[in-house]
Amino acid sequence: MIKAKKSLGQNFLTDRNVLETIVNTAEITNKTILEIGPGTGNLTSFILKKNPKKVFVIEKDNDLAENLKNIFANQLTIINDDVLNIDENLLFEDTVTVFGNLPYNISTEILSKWIVNLKDNFWFDHLILMFQKEVADRIVAKFNTSAYGRLSILSNWKLNVQKICDIKPESFSPRPKIDSSLLLFSPKKDFYKIKDPKNLEKITRVFFSHRRKMLKKPFNQLFNGDQKVIEKLKINLNLRPQNLDFDTYYELTREYESLGS
Ligand code: SAM
Repeated sequence: MIKAKKSLGQNFLTDRNVLETIVNTAEITNKTILEIGPGTGNLTSFILKKNPKKVFVIEKDNDLAENLKNIFANQLTIINDDVLNIDENLLFEDTVTVFGNLPYNISTEILSKWIVNLKDNFWFDHLILMFQKEVADRIVAKFNTSAYGRLSILSNWKLNVQKICDIKPESFSPRPKIDSSLLLFSPKKDFYKIKDPKNLEKITRVFFSHRRKMLKKPFNQLFNGDQKVIEKLKINLNLRPQNLDFDTYYELTREYESLGS
C-alpha cells in the first residue's frame, strides 16, 4: 500500500474521465513521451495504451520509482531523480511530448527553468501540464488583468498557451485543498529574439515588484529615465505594470540588452 508523501506533492489522479482527457490532448501513438512525476502510474497506464514509441518518466520518490519498475518492467525508461537536476536539452534524441501532473510546490520552478533554458530548436512539441488553478490562471492571463504578470509574460514569450479544463479536488487521492487546471503549451514559430532570457526575468521582476505603482520608478531604475526608449516603445509611465502588453515587455528586454552597446 503506497502512502502519499505531502512533501513531494503526491496527489494521485484517479478520475478516469480526466485521465482520458489528458491523453487525448496531444498525439501519443508512435511518439516519444516524457512524463514528469508518474507517481503510482495512473496516467502512465493511459499513455501506454496509446502505443507510444518510447516512454521516459522522471520520478524523484525512490519507493515509487521501484514500484513503477515492478508494474511496468521494460515498458518505461525510469529516471529516478529530481526533474530540476535533469538537463532536458541533452536527454532526448527525438522531440518529445511532455505530460505532467506536477507537484504544486515546484510547478512554476519547473516551467520557468524549461523556458529560460529553451534553445531555438525546441526539445518538445507539446507540454501538457497540470497546475493549481490559481497558477494556471496567471500563466494564461492577458494584459490589463490582475492575474497578468511575470509568469504570463515568460510563458507567452516562446509558447502558445491554452487552458484545456479545470479539475476538481475529488478527481485526486488524497484530495488537494485546491482546484487544478490542465494547460497545453506549444512552441511559437516566431518570437522576439532575446540574448539572455534571464534579462526578461529581471525586467518583469523589477516591473512587477510593485504592481499597483506607476511604471515610472521601475523604468528609471532599469533605464535611467532614457527618453529615447520611452518614445520608441510609446510607453506612458503613468500606467501600471499590468497595462503593458506582452510585446512591450519583450521589446523592453531587448532595449535593456542593447544598453551601453
Ligand atoms: N502523475 C501522478 C498522477 O497523476 O497520479 C502523480 C502526480 S503527483 C501530483 C506528483 C508526482 O511528482 C509524485 O509522484 C511525486 O513523487 C513526484 N515528484 C515530486 N517532486 C518531484 C521532483 N522534483 N522531480 C520528479 N518528480 C517529483
